[in-house]
Amino acid sequence: MTKIVIVTGGSRGIGAATARLLGREHAAVVVNYRKARSDADAVVNDIKASGGEAIAVQGDVGNEDDVLRLFAETDRAFGPLTGLVNNAGIVGGAKRRIDALTFAGIMELMRVNVAGQMLCAREAVKRMSTRNGGKGGAIVNVSSLGALTGSPHAFIDYAASKGALDTMTIGLAAEVVGSGIRVNGVRPGLIDTDIHDDAGIPDRIKRFGPTMPIGRAGAPEEVAEAIVWLLSDKASYVTGEFINVTGGAR
Ligand code: NAP
Repeated sequence: MTKIVIVTGGSRGIGAATARLLGREHAAVVVNYRKARSDADAVVNDIKASGGEAIAVQGDVGNEDDVLRLFAETDRAFGPLTGLVNNAGIVGGAKRRIDALTFAGIMELMRVNVAGQMLCAREAVKRMSTRNGGKGGAIVNVSSLGALTGSPHAFIDYAASKGALDTMTIGLAAEVVGSGIRVNGVRPGLIDTDIHDDAGIPDRIKRFGPTMPIGRAGAPEEVAEAIVWLLSDKASYVTGEFINVTGGAR
Protein backbone atom coordinates (compact mmCIF):
# COMPACT_ATOMS: atom_id res chain seq x y z
CA MET A 1 0.00 0.00 0.00
CA THR A 2 1.37 3.46 -0.89
CA LYS A 3 1.78 5.56 2.20
CA ILE A 4 0.31 9.05 1.96
CA VAL A 5 1.87 11.15 4.69
CA ILE A 6 1.76 14.81 5.72
CA VAL A 7 4.95 16.05 7.42
CA THR A 8 4.34 19.40 9.09
CA GLY A 9 7.44 21.59 9.18
CA GLY A 10 8.94 19.42 6.46
CA SER A 11 11.12 22.12 4.91
CA ARG A 12 14.02 21.95 7.38
CA GLY A 13 15.60 19.94 10.20
CA ILE A 14 13.91 16.81 11.56
CA GLY A 15 10.83 17.24 9.33
CA ALA A 16 12.93 17.49 6.16
CA ALA A 17 14.96 14.38 7.12
CA THR A 18 11.72 12.49 7.79
CA ALA A 19 10.17 13.56 4.49
CA ARG A 20 13.31 12.49 2.59
CA LEU A 21 13.39 9.11 4.35
CA LEU A 22 9.71 8.55 3.51
CA GLY A 23 10.52 9.42 -0.10
CA ARG A 24 13.21 6.73 -0.18
CA GLU A 25 10.47 4.30 0.95
CA HIS A 26 8.40 5.45 -2.06
CA ALA A 27 5.70 7.19 -0.05
CA ALA A 28 3.62 10.12 -1.29
CA VAL A 29 4.71 12.97 0.96
CA VAL A 30 3.14 16.37 1.61
CA VAL A 31 5.92 18.71 2.70
CA ASN A 32 4.30 21.44 4.76
CA TYR A 33 6.29 24.60 5.45
CA ARG A 34 5.60 28.03 6.88
CA LYS A 35 8.21 30.33 5.23
CA ALA A 36 11.06 28.31 3.70
CA ARG A 37 9.65 27.80 0.19
CA SER A 38 12.96 27.01 -1.50
CA ASP A 39 13.95 24.51 1.22
CA ALA A 40 10.55 22.80 0.86
CA ASP A 41 10.99 22.66 -2.93
CA ALA A 42 14.44 21.08 -2.47
CA VAL A 43 12.94 18.39 -0.22
CA VAL A 44 10.19 17.72 -2.81
CA ASN A 45 12.83 17.36 -5.55
CA ASP A 46 14.88 14.92 -3.44
CA ILE A 47 11.79 12.81 -2.70
CA LYS A 48 10.89 12.61 -6.38
CA ALA A 49 14.49 11.75 -7.29
CA SER A 50 14.46 8.84 -4.84
CA GLY A 51 11.24 7.32 -6.18
CA GLY A 52 8.55 8.88 -4.03
CA GLU A 53 5.90 11.44 -4.88
CA ALA A 54 5.72 14.85 -3.22
CA ILE A 55 4.16 18.28 -3.12
CA ALA A 56 4.97 21.32 -0.97
CA VAL A 57 2.09 23.09 0.77
CA GLN A 58 2.58 26.38 2.62
CA GLY A 59 0.61 26.80 5.83
CA ASP A 60 0.91 27.83 9.47
CA VAL A 61 -0.19 24.86 11.58
CA GLY A 62 -1.42 27.29 14.22
CA ASN A 63 -3.96 28.77 11.79
CA GLU A 64 -7.13 26.72 11.32
CA ASP A 65 -7.83 27.91 7.76
CA ASP A 66 -4.28 26.96 6.76
CA VAL A 67 -4.67 23.50 8.33
CA LEU A 68 -7.96 22.90 6.49
CA ARG A 69 -6.30 23.93 3.21
CA LEU A 70 -3.25 21.70 3.91
CA PHE A 71 -5.46 18.63 4.31
CA ALA A 72 -7.76 19.56 1.39
CA GLU A 73 -4.75 19.94 -0.93
CA THR A 74 -3.47 16.55 0.26
CA ASP A 75 -6.87 14.94 -0.51
CA ARG A 76 -6.81 16.44 -4.01
CA ALA A 77 -3.21 15.51 -4.79
CA PHE A 78 -2.95 11.99 -3.37
CA GLY A 79 -6.29 10.74 -1.98
CA PRO A 80 -6.84 9.11 1.41
CA LEU A 81 -4.24 10.00 4.03
CA THR A 82 -2.49 7.18 5.92
CA GLY A 83 -0.02 9.10 8.08
CA LEU A 84 0.67 12.39 9.85
CA VAL A 85 3.97 13.56 11.31
CA ASN A 86 3.08 16.38 13.68
CA ASN A 87 6.56 17.88 13.61
CA ALA A 88 6.26 21.67 13.13
CA GLY A 89 7.33 23.44 16.28
CA ILE A 90 8.98 26.60 17.60
CA VAL A 91 11.14 27.21 20.64
CA GLY A 92 9.89 30.77 21.07
CA GLY A 93 13.05 32.89 20.97
CA ALA A 94 16.04 33.41 23.23
CA LYS A 95 16.70 31.49 26.45
CA ARG A 96 14.58 32.91 29.27
CA ARG A 97 13.73 32.36 32.93
CA ILE A 98 10.18 32.67 34.19
CA ASP A 99 10.52 36.40 34.94
CA ALA A 100 11.09 37.04 31.21
CA LEU A 101 8.00 35.20 29.97
CA THR A 102 5.28 37.24 28.30
CA PHE A 103 1.63 36.37 27.78
CA ALA A 104 2.03 36.90 24.03
CA GLY A 105 5.09 34.64 23.89
CA ILE A 106 3.42 31.86 25.88
CA MET A 107 0.30 32.02 23.70
CA GLU A 108 2.37 31.89 20.49
CA LEU A 109 4.09 28.70 21.71
CA MET A 110 0.79 27.10 22.66
CA ARG A 111 -0.80 28.20 19.36
CA VAL A 112 1.87 26.54 17.22
CA ASN A 113 3.11 23.66 19.39
CA VAL A 114 -0.19 22.56 20.99
CA ALA A 115 -3.25 23.91 19.14
CA GLY A 116 -1.51 23.35 15.79
CA GLN A 117 -0.77 19.69 16.54
CA MET A 118 -4.31 19.11 17.81
CA LEU A 119 -5.91 20.66 14.71
CA CYS A 120 -3.71 18.56 12.43
CA ALA A 121 -4.50 15.42 14.46
CA ARG A 122 -8.23 16.21 14.22
CA GLU A 123 -8.11 16.48 10.43
CA ALA A 124 -5.98 13.33 10.13
CA VAL A 125 -8.33 11.28 12.35
CA LYS A 126 -11.37 12.43 10.35
CA ARG A 127 -9.79 11.00 7.22
CA MET A 128 -8.09 7.85 8.58
CA SER A 129 -10.72 6.57 11.04
CA THR A 130 -12.19 3.23 10.01
CA ARG A 131 -15.37 4.42 11.73
CA ASN A 132 -15.68 7.09 9.02
CA GLY A 133 -14.88 4.67 6.19
CA GLY A 134 -11.13 5.45 6.28
CA LYS A 135 -8.33 2.89 5.96
CA GLY A 136 -6.71 3.54 9.35
CA GLY A 137 -3.23 4.99 9.74
CA ALA A 138 -0.64 6.36 12.13
CA ILE A 139 0.21 9.68 13.75
CA VAL A 140 3.63 10.53 15.18
CA ASN A 141 3.88 13.60 17.42
CA VAL A 142 7.35 15.15 17.65
CA SER A 143 7.78 16.16 21.27
CA SER A 144 11.02 16.87 23.16
CA LEU A 145 13.12 15.59 26.03
CA GLY A 146 12.10 18.96 27.52
CA ALA A 147 8.67 17.45 28.22
CA LEU A 148 10.43 15.27 30.84
CA THR A 149 13.07 17.72 32.15
CA GLY A 150 10.93 20.89 32.07
CA SER A 151 13.90 22.79 30.53
CA PRO A 152 14.65 24.93 33.63
CA HIS A 153 16.62 28.20 33.13
CA ALA A 154 15.91 28.01 29.40
CA PHE A 155 12.41 27.36 28.07
CA ILE A 156 9.88 26.10 30.59
CA ASP A 157 7.04 27.41 28.41
CA TYR A 158 8.36 25.42 25.43
CA ALA A 159 8.82 22.34 27.63
CA ALA A 160 5.26 22.74 28.93
CA SER A 161 3.95 22.87 25.36
CA LYS A 162 5.68 19.54 24.68
CA GLY A 163 4.26 18.13 27.93
CA ALA A 164 0.81 19.04 26.63
CA LEU A 165 1.61 17.30 23.35
CA ASP A 166 2.66 14.13 25.23
CA THR A 167 -0.61 14.16 27.17
CA MET A 168 -2.48 14.58 23.89
CA THR A 169 -0.57 11.59 22.48
CA ILE A 170 -1.67 9.38 25.38
CA GLY A 171 -5.32 10.48 25.23
CA LEU A 172 -5.67 10.40 21.47
CA ALA A 173 -4.01 6.98 21.22
CA ALA A 174 -6.63 5.57 23.59
CA GLU A 175 -9.46 7.43 21.85
CA VAL A 176 -8.72 6.14 18.33
CA VAL A 177 -7.21 2.70 19.00
CA GLY A 178 -10.52 1.14 17.95
CA SER A 179 -10.60 3.21 14.75
CA GLY A 180 -7.51 1.69 13.14
CA ILE A 181 -5.22 4.58 14.09
CA ARG A 182 -2.01 4.35 16.12
CA VAL A 183 -0.65 7.48 17.85
CA ASN A 184 2.88 7.66 19.24
CA GLY A 185 5.45 10.27 20.23
CA VAL A 186 9.15 10.80 19.58
CA ARG A 187 11.19 12.90 22.00
CA PRO A 188 14.39 14.24 20.43
CA GLY A 189 17.23 15.41 22.66
CA LEU A 190 19.93 17.77 21.35
CA ILE A 191 19.67 17.51 17.56
CA ASP A 192 21.75 19.49 15.05
CA THR A 193 19.17 21.73 13.31
CA ASP A 194 18.50 25.46 12.83
CA ILE A 195 16.15 25.59 15.83
CA HIS A 196 19.09 26.52 18.07
CA ASP A 197 19.76 29.64 15.97
CA ASP A 198 16.11 30.62 16.50
CA ALA A 199 16.70 30.14 20.23
CA GLY A 200 19.62 32.59 20.08
CA ILE A 201 22.25 29.92 20.85
CA PRO A 202 23.84 29.13 17.47
CA ASP A 203 26.85 27.43 19.11
CA ARG A 204 24.66 25.15 21.26
CA ILE A 205 25.53 21.97 19.35
CA LYS A 206 29.29 22.63 19.59
CA ARG A 207 29.10 23.58 23.26
CA PHE A 208 26.71 20.95 24.56
CA GLY A 209 27.08 18.08 22.08
CA PRO A 210 30.17 16.69 23.88
CA THR A 211 28.30 16.79 27.21
CA MET A 212 25.65 14.34 26.02
CA PRO A 213 26.09 10.83 27.51
CA ILE A 214 26.79 9.50 23.99
CA GLY A 215 29.37 12.27 23.43
CA ARG A 216 27.73 14.23 20.63
CA ALA A 217 24.52 15.87 19.39
CA GLY A 218 22.17 13.83 17.22
CA ALA A 219 21.53 14.20 13.49
CA PRO A 220 18.00 14.87 12.19
CA GLU A 221 18.25 11.62 10.21
CA GLU A 222 18.61 9.66 13.47
CA VAL A 223 15.27 11.07 14.69
CA ALA A 224 13.67 10.44 11.29
CA GLU A 225 14.45 6.71 11.60
CA ALA A 226 12.37 6.45 14.79
CA ILE A 227 9.51 8.49 13.30
CA VAL A 228 9.34 6.44 10.10
CA TRP A 229 9.49 3.18 12.05
CA LEU A 230 6.53 4.26 14.21
CA LEU A 231 4.59 5.21 11.06
CA SER A 232 5.30 1.86 9.44
CA ASP A 233 3.52 -1.46 9.70
CA LYS A 234 6.60 -2.76 11.53
CA ALA A 235 5.20 -0.87 14.54
CA SER A 236 1.70 -2.31 14.03
CA TYR A 237 1.28 -3.28 17.73
CA VAL A 238 2.70 -0.04 19.18
CA THR A 239 0.42 2.81 20.23
CA GLY A 240 0.37 5.42 22.99
CA GLU A 241 4.15 5.05 23.38
CA PHE A 242 7.22 7.28 23.16
CA ILE A 243 10.71 6.81 21.78
CA ASN A 244 13.38 9.05 23.31
CA VAL A 245 16.07 9.82 20.70
CA THR A 246 18.43 11.57 23.09
CA GLY A 247 21.82 9.83 23.04
CA GLY A 248 21.18 8.69 26.60
CA ALA A 249 20.23 12.14 27.96
CA ARG A 250 17.41 12.09 30.53
P1 NAP B 1 13.80 23.62 12.68
O1 NAP B 1 15.07 23.15 12.05
O2 NAP B 1 13.73 24.99 13.26
O3 NAP B 1 12.62 23.41 11.63
C1 NAP B 1 11.32 23.75 12.03
C2 NAP B 1 10.37 23.41 10.91
O4 NAP B 1 9.04 23.70 11.38
C3 NAP B 1 10.60 24.22 9.67
O5 NAP B 1 10.33 23.40 8.55
C4 NAP B 1 9.56 25.35 9.79
O6 NAP B 1 9.09 25.80 8.54
C5 NAP B 1 8.44 24.61 10.47
N1 NAP B 1 7.52 25.48 11.20
C6 NAP B 1 7.78 26.29 12.24
N2 NAP B 1 6.65 26.91 12.65
C7 NAP B 1 5.67 26.47 11.82
C8 NAP B 1 4.29 26.74 11.72
N3 NAP B 1 3.69 27.60 12.55
N4 NAP B 1 3.58 26.11 10.76
C9 NAP B 1 4.18 25.23 9.90
N5 NAP B 1 5.48 24.95 9.94
C10 NAP B 1 6.22 25.56 10.89
O7 NAP B 1 13.36 22.65 13.89
P2 NAP B 1 13.73 21.12 14.25
O8 NAP B 1 14.85 21.17 15.17
O9 NAP B 1 13.80 20.30 13.02
O10 NAP B 1 12.44 20.76 15.11
C11 NAP B 1 11.40 19.94 14.64
C12 NAP B 1 10.59 19.48 15.83
O11 NAP B 1 11.47 18.78 16.73
C13 NAP B 1 9.99 20.63 16.64
O12 NAP B 1 8.69 20.27 17.06
C14 NAP B 1 10.93 20.76 17.82
O13 NAP B 1 10.28 21.29 18.96
C15 NAP B 1 11.34 19.32 18.02
N6 NAP B 1 12.61 19.17 18.76
C16 NAP B 1 13.81 19.57 18.21
C17 NAP B 1 14.97 19.41 18.95
C18 NAP B 1 16.34 19.80 18.44
O14 NAP B 1 17.32 19.78 19.20
N7 NAP B 1 16.47 20.20 17.17
C19 NAP B 1 14.92 18.85 20.23
C20 NAP B 1 13.69 18.47 20.74
C21 NAP B 1 12.55 18.62 20.00
P3 NAP B 1 9.73 27.11 7.79
O15 NAP B 1 11.20 26.93 7.79
O16 NAP B 1 9.16 27.05 6.42
O17 NAP B 1 9.25 28.33 8.52
